[in-house]
Amino acid sequence: MPAMTDRVFNFSPGPAVLPVEVLEQARDDMLSLPGVGMSVLEISHRSPAFDRILEETLALLKSLLGIGDSHEVIFLQGGASLQFSMVPMNILRGQSAAADYVITGTWGATGAKEARREGKVHVAWDGAATNHDRLPTDREIALSPQPAYVHITSNETIQGVQWKHDPDFGPAPLVCDCSSDFLSRPIDVSRYGLIYACAQKNAGIAGVTTVIIRKDLLERSHDDLPTMLDYRTFVKNGSRPNTPPVFAIYILDLVCRWITGRMGGLQGMARHNAAKAKLLYDTLDQSGGFYAGHARPECRSDMNVTFRLPDEATEKAFVTGAVKRGLMDLKGHRSVGGIRASIYNAMPLAGVEALRDFMTDFQREHQD
Ligand SMILES: *Cc1c(COP(=O)(O)O)cnc(C)c1O
Repeated sequence: MPAMTDRVFNFSPGPAVLPVEVLEQARDDMLSLPGVGMSVLEISHRSPAFDRILEETLALLKSLLGIGDSHEVIFLQGGASLQFSMVPMNILRGQSAAADYVITGTWGATGAKEARREGKVHVAWDGAATNHDRLPTDREIALSPQPAYVHITSNETIQGVQWKHDPDFGPAPLVCDCSSDFLSRPIDVSRYGLIYACAQKNAGIAGVTTVIIRKDLLERSHDDLPTMLDYRTFVKNGSRPNTPPVFAIYILDLVCRWITGRMGGLQGMARHNAAKAKLLYDTLDQSGGFYAGHARPECRSDMNVTFRLPDEATEKAFVTGAVKRGLMDLKGHRSVGGIRASIYNAMPLAGVEALRDFMTDFQREHQD
């Protein structure tokens, strides 16, 4: 068995680092789930063993997020990207009002593009003019009259811009793509009409997408929708109208257990994440401009820390030098360039400290 020291620090934006405890549990259960005699990869999705896993995952999610009877929680496939279409198919199609999109980065723009296929879309704000480096102020947001819903992206994974509070846009249902900060901090679910999040950033592995939907919004779906694109199908059948992604739900269960039992719930998780992010942002701020953060300070993401170096050649040398220290996948997204350190839930403090130390050394060596 390889020693733990063989593991590098993985700063990938997703699929991303998982807690070692979760990997160890999955390894231990791989040949035989205790008392079942089969791997979770092999069991029926209608077996009592999977009933227990699904029930526990739902119960832990509801408890972590404080979800009450007003909302349904369902598990889907197709990633967050399918939700860009499913959300407007279910809650915009057939409405005369527009859906309002507040666009703070690449993912929000992609969501708005898909929504246009289903109905009217109104862009209530778009930060493209400054390359999506900030959030709008309240006064800048121009909503349409009585929007069908207002869509935000709580954390823009590519630009590293994060909403720091649950926004309030009045009575229209608030819809949130929470994919890259889901389960990283508490969120007041009661203020949202719909929340969706793929799992492979903070909450597990690719294959399962969690949708939390306020019950009254289910009444907007029409019967002409394909069965598998209708939220009601998943609500009626307890997320099992067909074979769900059994293994991905099992990993989500283990991550929920880890957050609940080891990290002190979402409050503890948020403290841990904020402390890690502060270490890196302090390093940027103390670098005299050598490391230039992309996001403005008041909306810096605790999940994806984005910054540039003086030129592209130096950025390349940074990424190569980091690999030699076991700090992997720091290259920024091809659309914005620069460096991106994704420091999701499972990134240990030691990983962030190692990156900070490397940044300090690298600056000393490369600054003229
Ligand atoms: C990763 C990500 C997506 C896309 O997720 P897929 O599961 O790959 O479709 C969408 N939105 C945000 C905010 C993301 O971080």
